Amino acid sequence: MLEITKESIEKAIEKARITKPKVKVLEFRRYAVTNKTTGANYEVKFYKISGKKFAECDCKATKICYHIGASIGAHIVLAEQMSRQTV
Ligand SMILES: [Zn+2]
Repeated sequence: MLEITKESIEKAIEKARITKPKVKVLEFRRYAVTNKTTGANYEVKFYKISGKKFAECDCKATKICYHIGASIGAHIVLAEQMSRQTV
């Protein structure tokens, strides 16, 4: 599990903008990311522990990867919708 920092996620989002992988919502906090070129599928999960944000991806990367960068956009939108519903 990797901690999401502002710097690491900005780099990942930037890379996702270039590679444009396909993101599918599996459930809240769980996303399937597909590399359009290779067809490879990865699963990204988000966690929130003691106010800190973490992410996990099943690719080989050992830092915040572009799969996480690609799915965080969908995650932020969903998280906002969920928080509005519970209020
Ligand atoms: Zn990844």
